[in-house]
Amino acid sequence: MRVVVTGGSGFLGSHLCEALVGRGDTVWCLDNYCTGESLNVAPLRGHPRFRLVRADVTTAFEVPGPLDAVAHLASPASPPDYGRLPLETLSVGSRGTENALQLAMRRGARFLLASTSEVYGDPALHPQPEEYWGNVNPVGPRSVYDEAKRYAEALTMAYRRSIGVNTGIVRIFNTYGPRMRPHDGRVVSTFVRQALEGSPLTLYGDGSQTRSFCYVDDLVRGLLAMLDSGHSGPVNLGNPAECTVRELARLVIEATDSPSTIAFGPLPVDDPGRRRPVVTRARDLLGWTARVPLDVGLRKTVDWFMAQPHPAHRTLGQPLEA
Ligand code: NAD
Ligand code: UDP
Repeated sequence: MRVVVTGGSGFLGSHLCEALVGRGDTVWCLDNYCTGESLNVAPLRGHPRFRLVRADVTTAFEVPGPLDAVAHLASPASPPDYGRLPLETLSVGSRGTENALQLAMRRGARFLLASTSEVYGDPALHPQPEEYWGNVNPVGPRSVYDEAKRYAEALTMAYRRSIGVNTGIVRIFNTYGPRMRPHDGRVVSTFVRQALEGSPLTLYGDGSQTRSFCYVDDLVRGLLAMLDSGHSGPVNLGNPAECTVRELARLVIEATDSPSTIAFGPLPVDDPGRRRPVVTRARDLLGWTARVPLDVGLRKTVDWFMAQPHPAHRTLGQPLEA
């Protein structure tokens, strides 16, 4: 296949690009680097089936030759990222999604929207099936992301229903792994970095809020399965093993053998209290389930962070001033 991946230099996008090239596809990776890094796709640079294009997808874009699929991943995704880029987040969710849909429409390509469990907001129903409509505060600080993704889903369904574009929507639940930015502010990258530095882990609230963490390799298998299918979705992609944030802190300290303590901080506004996907649709339609247990995925993530050259990733055995 010939595939465009928007946001292809980000955390998930770079793994998706790698998987696509690895199975023989040709990839155009489009990114404006607002939260991604070209370093993430460094292993692919120079590959004959990989093209890296600096582009802001809120402006209409084109790629040469035939096209089979557009995977639209471009969007800030970490709460601190979309908190500091609110207008950009709304713009890429709306104009960016429309431009990506237009490209798919012009070229008769399959369109895949990377939506999010955040469309469920702070869910009043637990766990969350795809039929649940969500509980989003439309004027809260998270709304720039949540509502942009909800609009992106509506736009995607409208292109499907009214124009016949072959679209698919996945709702991704918290995913972690190598290539998360150590300072992206998300909980796994933050805890791993802090534990490796030996600094206190910043636990927001009392840590009883839950998330369900999916390892990136599992997630990418799900994205490929949805891309290759003709299903419209939405389909939840996530690991249903639910864990409190306090328990996550304990697991990270264990995986790093760190002397770090816990520093409690205020819970961010509208922070969802609990989150766990119902994954029967992914299993029945795509034959997909997450396989990597949290302790195993955390170990792989820690190993990757420790192999990075930046001082923030040094192992505890090496003094920071060395
Ligand atoms: P990320 O921030 O690492 O990657 C997003 C990428 O999009 C970055 O490389 C960024 O530079 C790029 N981008 C943003 N705006 C752009 C624009 N206007 N034009 C071109 N490129 C642009 O985040 P991620 O975790 O890799 O998330 C990827 C996608 O998956 C996002 O759409 C996100 O909403 C979705 N998602 C991720 C998770 C998760 O846990 N990682 C959960 C739910 C949904
Ligand atoms: N969190 C935390 N400490 C941090 C970063 C996040 O306790 O340093 C909490 C956050 O309040 C939330 C959970 O961890 O309850 C997951 O946060 P993240 O930003 O990773 O993702 P999201 O809230 O979008 O699920």
